Amino acid sequence: MNSLTELERPIETDYLNCIRCGLCLAVCPTYRESYKEASSPRGRVALARKGLDGELELSPNLYEQMYGCFACMACNDICPVGIKPAELSLAMRHVQEQKEPSGWKKTLFENLIPHPWRMEAATWPLRIYQNLGIRRLVYALGLMRIMPSQLRDMEAMLPRLPQRPLRQVLPTVTPAKGETKRKVGFFLGCAQSLLFAEESAATVRVLSRNGCEVTTPDEVVCCGMPAHGYGRLDLVREHAKHNIAVFEKSDLETVVTDCATCGSTLKEYGEYLKDDPEWAERAEKFSSKVRDISEYLTEIPLEKPKGRVEARVTYHDPCHLRRAQKVWKQPREILNLIDGLEFVELPESDWCCGSAGSQLITHYETSLQVLARKMDNLAGTKAQIVASGCPGCQMQLNTGIQKHGLGVRVVHPITLLDEAYKE
Ligand code: SF4
Ligand code: SF4
Repeated sequence: MNSLTELERPIETDYLNCIRCGLCLAVCPTYRESYKEASSPRGRVALARKGLDGELELSPNLYEQMYGCFACMACNDICPVGIKPAELSLAMRHVQEQKEPSGWKKTLFENLIPHPWRMEAATWPLRIYQNLGIRRLVYALGLMRIMPSQLRDMEAMLPRLPQRPLRQVLPTVTPAKGETKRKVGFFLGCAQSLLFAEESAATVRVLSRNGCEVTTPDEVVCCGMPAHGYGRLDLVREHAKHNIAVFEKSDLETVVTDCATCGSTLKEYGEYLKDDPEWAERAEKFSSKVRDISEYLTEIPLEKPKGRVEARVTYHDPCHLRRAQKVWKQPREILNLIDGLEFVELPESDWCCGSAGSQLITHYETSLQVLARKMDNLAGTKAQIVASGCPGCQMQLNTGIQKHGLGVRVVHPITLLDEAYKE
């Protein structure tokens, strides 16, 4: 086991300057459910500080508070002295992984997630479950009712899986419809390819319709966010180098993604690799080209759709889009472009939905409590559709909507634009 001083760890300014003002408590979803100081941003900063200064053992309990953080970044935004408790929680997970590497994380994050073919093979049982009538049978026989509630909720998260992952279907180059006005790269995220293929197919159609030739390299690997969430910053850097090199093969002005989490991670590659002499400049250049799809579409002349989508719609801000990328006006602008849509603001639209990637699995009760708050707000809008540009949020919203019997459709905003283009 390495000593703390030999490890990559937060620098003192990341935690020493906390003035304990408590402003962050009001915006923290985990604190607002538990009202426990240890589950608050201020508490996590204090724990990290004492642990790193040797006043407190770096125990499983201490790390548990770091994993209990939803990394929603609300605290980062409100802190008056620039502390970033969300980043500190992630950095502490990285400290733990360096001190005591975990076997299951090695298997998952080294041997499965960075290998698209293995990920695709791993989802085949789910495809069989959904497509061969097994799911229908499970529901018809009432078997779902006798399953543990967490398993039921995880099952409810799943969208209808595509017959084949989009990575295997989408051509490397999709030509522009009509004259080619721009050449863009498309970063197809794992969740989009495996679970939300129709949404990303719609994204590429929309880009093509708006004069973009779209290059979608199939050699990209996971953006790195799942590994980052579990303390494997070393792997994030490996993924970053691989993905940068893939896109360097094509001379593209912009790299677009329709996954909020992927976008926020790709935009951070420059930061992750800033101390690597060979990669710092390349990473910075790559990150500067990355755009969320809604951000990009509002930067170019966008064709107004002639068709209509008749529905009352609201919008949930993914943390990785609103906080990490400061993109929140653009999806609303796109929704407001579509005739027939009646847009209504979701109260607390930027409050975390409780997903945070895997919190429904790892911190089930808190995740559900945070989700219930979102569902109360959603029910109040009386919307028929809730749009959101993050696959994790979409899955979490699906679970909440089924659990609370709301009957609201969950969709990516660009899918609605694509529908309106069909007239
Ligand atoms: S807002 Fe910032 S300074 Fe105030 S308690 Fe929270 S982390 Fe500390
Ligand atoms: S990132 Fe979110 S959940 Fe984590 S401490 Fe900050 S406000 Fe709380």
